Amino acid sequence: MEVTWMRRVIERKRDGERLEAPVWQSIVQSYMDGAVDDAQMAALAMACVWRGLDLDESVALTRAMVDSGAALSFHGEAFVVDKHSSGGVGDIVSLVAVPLVAACGVKVAKLSGRALGHTGGTIDKLETIDGFDAMLSMDAFVRQVEEVGCAIAAQTGDFVPADKRLYLLRDHTATVASIGLIAASIVSKKVAGGAHGFVFDVKCGSAAFMRNPHDAVELAQTLVEVSRAFGRRARALVTDMNEPLGRYVGRGLELIEARHLLQNGSGEERVLEASLVIAAEMLELAGIPDARAAATAALRGGAGYDKFCQLVRAQHGSVASMEALRVPERCFDVPAPRDGYVTAIDAVALGYAARELSHEHPMYGIRVETRAGDRVAAGDVLARVFGSDAQLEAVAQAFAIGTERAEAHPFLYARI
Ligand code: URA
Repeated sequence: MEVTWMRRVIERKRDGERLEAPVWQSIVQSYMDGAVDDAQMAALAMACVWRGLDLDESVALTRAMVDSGAALSFHGEAFVVDKHSSGGVGDIVSLVAVPLVAACGVKVAKLSGRALGHTGGTIDKLETIDGFDAMLSMDAFVRQVEEVGCAIAAQTGDFVPADKRLYLLRDHTATVASIGLIAASIVSKKVAGGAHGFVFDVKCGSAAFMRNPHDAVELAQTLVEVSRAFGRRARALVTDMNEPLGRYVGRGLELIEARHLLQNGSGEERVLEASLVIAAEMLELAGIPDARAAATAALRGGAGYDKFCQLVRAQHGSVASMEALRVPERCFDVPAPRDGYVTAIDAVALGYAARELSHEHPMYGIRVETRAGDRVAAGDVLARVFGSDAQLEAVAQAFAIGTERAEAHPFLYARI
């Protein structure tokens, strides 16, 4: 592809034109072949950030990205579902909802990412279990979904390679923030993952890609519409990410929180509710009646925990090691500096602090003891830091204490 062709494409997008489907195919192919270089692709991405993509363009880019690599398919009659979260802090919903849904008889093929920036990654959490193998081959992934009913695996390199390259480039060039590009990036990976239905959990708030409900709803609608263009069933929820979802932030600690929830059927109210809401959406997508009641019964009756243990075993993890994981005894309290109300909790700061702690040891991390809106007295514990005191100051700075009570954020903003 000559340089002038791509330059003309960039000019067209820069000037607000829409690009036709064959053009998107050529762009992605040429980028993967090396005929289009990073500078040109970054310029195009920036034009997309400014000018946007319409639905047809998002679908065409998604298709071109899917075509850049291998794709999975499930051949049996059974409906297979996947879920995606746009990235959060203290977000253990996948660890809880996947086994709950599988325990209700609906197959779940969950492809997950690793930690990115301040957000935690489901794969990193599972890898705190001795022996756990997240790097399944495509055949092994499909087989496990068919035999066990669920699998959680990392995306391998030959899986939507165009997204892998383009996402890195966008991260380097401040061009992630385009709804059309985000939708193509997310849906291409879901489509290539082979599931028949997707539930998207679009996070909204100070620690999310989408800072306000308006943009989050637009992304949610785009994700659903692009998925439907590929013949998939799809639903999206817009949920809060202004503070950590669960009580714990940190790889191993979040795994413990998920284990407790599945073992006891109870736990932190927000994360429990989020897990049941998402599980119910996944079940409804598969046509299960009384989905919320079914998910709740699987949680309370222990079937969800049994399924989680089956998943861990199938992926060569040691259930004994998983059950032996403990919160470190060495712990440092973060006291409230004065009387007042917790007006905000900086989940981005907590996410980065937990990431640093996890580098020291996978079981190090943070427990949040207060929520935005709580009244505190000087000296009350705002948070506990486990394992090391290296991040104490950063954690203390993450809590804003004011004199006026802040409105608590709703958990659910929209359902599409
Ligand atoms: N997550 C993705 O997978 N892709 C994006 O572009 C943004 C978030």
